[in-house]
Amino acid sequence: MITVLKNGVTKQQRDQLIEWFEEQGLGVHISEGQYQTVLGLIGDTSRIDEELVASLEMVDSVKRISEPFKKANRKFHPENTVIRVGGVTFGDGSLSLIAGPCSVESEEQILDVAARVKEAGAGMLRGGAFKPRTSPYDFQGLGAEGIRLLEKAKEATGLPIVTEIMSAQTLPLFENVDVIQVGARNMQNFELLKELGKLNKPILLKRGLANTLKELLMSAEYIMAGGNEQVILCERGIRTYETYTRNTLDLSAIPALRELTHLPIVVDPSHATGIARMVEPMALAAVAAGADGLLIEVHNNPKKALCDGAQSLTPEQFTHTAQKARRVYEALRQ
Ligand code: PEP
Ligand code: MN
Repeated sequence: MITVLKNGVTKQQRDQLIEWFEEQGLGVHISEGQYQTVLGLIGDTSRIDEELVASLEMVDSVKRISEPFKKANRKFHPENTVIRVGGVTFGDGSLSLIAGPCSVESEEQILDVAARVKEAGAGMLRGGAFKPRTSPYDFQGLGAEGIRLLEKAKEATGLPIVTEIMSAQTLPLFENVDVIQVGARNMQNFELLKELGKLNKPILLKRGLANTLKELLMSAEYIMAGGNEQVILCERGIRTYETYTRNTLDLSAIPALRELTHLPIVVDPSHATGIARMVEPMALAAVAAGADGLLIEVHNNPKKALCDGAQSLTPEQFTHTAQKARRVYEALRQ
């Protein structure tokens, strides 16, 4: 972090500030120009409140050189993090597909969808048991029963399962869940993130509806700071002024996150567009942009889905999309 002092700051004022920085365990490099003095802070500045320093009377400006996310930062961990779940791998350069319904609705539904997405090449089954719905009157998910049905589908197909957690109180139910999803609405539920940081289980962390990439990485940092370094990031579209699609898929998040972090990146074109016919083109674009995986909603009868039917692909459509995604992936690998 660099702190530029205002013209005319006395030596006494300057020394006071330096002492304050040193008390916080930082080294200070002083560079005295003709008009201005620049203080270069050396050490871990992640605990320094940048705005507080900038608000001081004697300070002209403050610039952070290193980001406050340390564990998620590629600078300190140049190699990609590779996360293995059952037979699928994220972050090793392969393309992994996660598919399944928005919510688990019945045994018949989840077993049928699981078998069909497996057949189409999905490596992991998704399905919501605890659903974050905008309206309290909408279907809220089957809860514990939903997780039990997912476990049955896992037993039947061998596919590892991913499902969303909304409250740390329900954590005991997730014992046999392979990957725990933190949904967009909970990306900044810091207490939940801290609890997940204590686990030894991969977490699929979705980007919040109105969050920056750096905020996403700070949320990943919460989980990692607790000791759980297995975080998969998920771009699922953000709120913009465009209303034609449910959200706006930020595809540039893929190369941007690639630079900033070593964590694997998955793209969810279903929640990003909200429209089934747009899922395939966006899925292909995400693969072309270098995503490690795709998360796609698939329902055996989208018209009757209790949640997100409009964006759900049929198993046939998913088969087609998965084939095309593989072709884009293969073409780019050559
Ligand atoms: C979901 O995956 O079903 C979901 C609710 O997604 P998001 O948190 O991205 O809206
Ligand atoms: Mn959904």
